[in-house]
Amino acid sequence: MFNLVLFGPPGSGKGTQAAKLVENYNFVHLSTGDVLREEMRKGTPVGLEAKTLIDRGELVPDEVVIEIIRSRIKGLNNVEGFIFDGFPRTTRQAEELDKMLEEEGMAIDLMITFDVDEDVIISRILERGKDSGRADDQNPEIIKNRIKIYHDQTVVVAHHYRKQNKYASVNNMGTIDETFSKLSKHIYKN
Ligand code: UDP
Ligand code: MG
Repeated sequence: MFNLVLFGPPGSGKGTQAAKLVENYNFVHLSTGDVLREEMRKGTPVGLEAKTLIDRGELVPDEVVIEIIRSRIKGLNNVEGFIFDGFPRTTRQAEELDKMLEEEGMAIDLMITFDVDEDVIISRILERGKDSGRADDQNPEIIKNRIKIYHDQTVVVAHHYRKQNKYASVNNMGTIDETFSKLSKHIYKN
């Protein structure tokens, strides 16, 4: 098994690279952002709660995303591996993830951070917003708030995995394929 956390600021390419990994390996992709957007579309209580926060670029509470992940990994310890995309976003989420995985006889093998300059991520997100229909991808102020929250609350999560010697970074300023080939070198290598 190989369990991977894809990390980095909004718009750094986590979802894009996760999709490439799924094409090439038998991994299960878990994006809490995608799950929350699905809940919003269905109009569930979780979706309604998330919408107000997501529209402002704020974080959905730890308990909500932790339960989303818990329900999706339970009993799935015979898969090739999980790709966690957009989660954990706080140290508490990382601690809970480690515990949940341990209960299932698993662990995180590696966190990979995508390094991208801030001006590049802003323009990539605005570009994505043109056809994604995501309100939070269309407003520069909300995008800046998401980046601020990433720096204030999420960046520290890297330290959690660095302490465990499970950390690497990959520059993602180039093309999708260039990044994928750099990323692939880390899979099953830690
Ligand atoms: N979000 C959150 N917790 C999560 C995942 C998503 O609070 O675990 C919210 C948060 O408001 C974030 C938005 O959903 O700004 C979009 O997250 P996603 O990871 O999909 O966006 P990306 O960072 O990939 O652009
Ligand atoms: Mg994403």
